[in-house]
Amino acid sequence: MNKPVARAEIFSVAAYVGGESKLAGFEKPIKLSSNEGAFGPPPGALRAIAEVAATMHRYPDGGSLKLRQALGEKFSLDPERIVCGNGSDEILTLLIQSYGGPGTELIMSEHGFSIYEISGKLAGCTVLKAPEKDLTTDVDAILALVSPATRMVFIANPNNPTGTALGQSEMERLRNALPKHVLLVLDAAYSEYVERADYEAGVKLVDAGENTVMTRTFSKIFGMGGTRLGWGYAPPAVVDVLNRVRPPFPVNNFAVAAGIAALEEPGWLEMSRAHNSAERRRLTERLTQAGLTVIPSEANFILVDFSNVERASAADMHLRKHGIIVRQVKSYGLPHCLRITIGTAAECSLVAEHLTAFSHG
Ligand SMILES: *Cc1c(COP(=O)(O)O)cnc(C)c1O
Repeated sequence: MNKPVARAEIFSVAAYVGGESKLAGFEKPIKLSSNEGAFGPPPGALRAIAEVAATMHRYPDGGSLKLRQALGEKFSLDPERIVCGNGSDEILTLLIQSYGGPGTELIMSEHGFSIYEISGKLAGCTVLKAPEKDLTTDVDAILALVSPATRMVFIANPNNPTGTALGQSEMERLRNALPKHVLLVLDAAYSEYVERADYEAGVKLVDAGENTVMTRTFSKIFGMGGTRLGWGYAPPAVVDVLNRVRPPFPVNNFAVAAGIAALEEPGWLEMSRAHNSAERRRLTERLTQAGLTVIPSEANFILVDFSNVERASAADMHLRKHGIIVRQVKSYGLPHCLRITIGTAAECSLVAEHLTAFSHG
């Protein structure tokens, strides 16, 4: 060896590629590739960041106490059971580093969120994927993969990129059938958008025992992806572990201020949820009328099934030609599909128009 060599597991992972934002020939393309919310950031969050700028020489509170108190108040949770992170990705990764590792197995679903696999492999875990039914997490398939080496199960509910969700009874069935020492992580990044009545983001299962964690984010409905702010709600022993392994200052002053202000923004959640439900329904209907197959979604995006890779790529090209960037989901094992974020009403209309023309063309 005549040069430094990184650990072998690092090369089992491809670098993460985010949704594209540039399109040649368009100064301001319509970016519907990262589920960033339709309205930009809450106005109060912008003001809060400007106000806190003068104290940027001060280190943040490493434990983000004020933010945890605001979250506790907003969602009726004990702030002592909340841990904030530099995006919920960080909380997910810290959980894997703490409870996974070489010789352990991590279970996720077939088309589950990519971070579980990336962080799992980097930590040396063996990552197992449970087949899905109708692009939906299958509790029995997950249980069939459980072995003595299983330490963690990750479920995004609703899932990205499929948009499908499980109801509370299925989640309880999974929790009750999993061994008590297996940590169940419910990633509820899109929970605020869910309409179905039998859904629960994860609070009940966290409160019911010592082995379930829920993660949430400011990146989607709060429109603050660039701020990097997420949080976990966990049993005390898991909170203790996360506080030991987290960086000294995971959440910066700007994120704390913006997060607190976003929680206080009058009507923001209600307005965003109502808009998303209406536009998701409208876009789903229009694309279905155009003869396309749309997977029923509970999130702020829809997955469109074009039957084969060629047709999905052609649809993608067609949208790009009109300045619209959506997400190819080849890396999720869905090369025949495109994931489209619910944008403004005007953006959704444009998508519907162009995909209708594509479908009939
Ligand atoms: C976007 C997303 C996240 C990441 O959230 P950050 O808080 O921005 O790190 C987590 N899980 C799922 C399923 C997501 O789609």
